[in-house]
Amino acid sequence: MTANSIKIERTTAPKQKPDENQLGFGKYFTDHMFIMDYEEGKGWINPRIIPYQPIMMDPAAKVFHYGQTVFEGLKAYRAADGRILLFRPEQNFLRLNRSNSRLSIPDVDGELALEALKQLILVDQDWVPSQEGNSLYIRPFVIATQATLGVAPSHNYHFMIIMSPVGAYYAEGIHPVKIYVESEYVRAVRGGTGNAKTAGNYAGGLKAQEEATSKGYSQVLWLDGVHQKYIEEVGSMNVFFKIGGTVYTPELNGSILDGITRNSMIQLLKHWNVPVVERQISIDEIYEAYTNGTLEEAFGTGTAAVISPIGDLYWNGHQMLINGGHTGELSQKLYDTLTSIQQGAQEDPFSWMVEVQQKAILS
Ligand SMILES: *Cc1c(COP(=O)(O)O)cnc(C)c1O
Repeated sequence: MTANSIKIERTTAPKQKPDENQLGFGKYFTDHMFIMDYEEGKGWINPRIIPYQPIMMDPAAKVFHYGQTVFEGLKAYRAADGRILLFRPEQNFLRLNRSNSRLSIPDVDGELALEALKQLILVDQDWVPSQEGNSLYIRPFVIATQATLGVAPSHNYHFMIIMSPVGAYYAEGIHPVKIYVESEYVRAVRGGTGNAKTAGNYAGGLKAQEEATSKGYSQVLWLDGVHQKYIEEVGSMNVFFKIGGTVYTPELNGSILDGITRNSMIQLLKHWNVPVVERQISIDEIYEAYTNGTLEEAFGTGTAAVISPIGDLYWNGHQMLINGGHTGELSQKLYDTLTSIQQGAQEDPFSWMVEVQQKAILS
């Protein structure tokens, strides 16, 4: 199948665009979406860009009952010179296929998916925000659509891409948040689905998040599911700690999501010769570093916020105020550097950015 076979049906009723100062996150969707179907024996067929619209599904569709679904999240940015840039999109489609494999969903052709995404962005190019800090959030996902209740991998799927113009996660710049170390619920266990971007992981985390919010915290820090001792992630972000000049992040152990922002931060730190270590880290170790004064900074990383500094960490009766509750120097530098590479404002030494060429679309 070639990219030329992507059919394009344009909307006859374009929506009014939202105010760029009031975008929020994931509230507005562009005029078009991409969809293709999978049929057992035929593979992925009928790739098309169509007006954004509801989809018809049988109530017996497997995704509703057994959660056979995966998703991705990435962003397109508008550079000051008008170019549209994607951040490491090929990594998202590689990870989509790793998630697919874990959920017994057939592979999606990563090149076709990227070409489909580029064409979709071109069709909706007026939706890529231009105000600094704003971007176009992109949500590719797969759902199992076969209408039978047997617990078995589906024979039918949709692969879709929808897009939403979003504001800067922190309108007033990054600021530290309060985090609750969760010691009752767990997010994932090794051998489970923690390293796949699949719906059930998030549904299962809502309860802990809700309880933390009611106690005045913005998110939870997840500990491992076996010993409830080793640090895994913060909310739906990866987590880093700077202790005595070295940056530590939990190693990818099978239950942690392999974040593209995480990987990019590690590359930036190495580029700057800042020592960075991926290993198992216990919460006791963090508390010990806090009490002996060597816990310098802590932050979460992910596509939506890029960096979310941790100002306050509550664990088992102990309140740890990190860097006086202020954003650390290194956290700020990582944020400033990555966001300016993403906006095309700074040299891109790693060739991370992929330009969406504003060529004529053949269709
Ligand atoms: C998506 C996600 C992340 C961050 O991944 P990025 O590729 O950096 O956006 C981290 N943890 C979880 C659980 C996630 O779902």
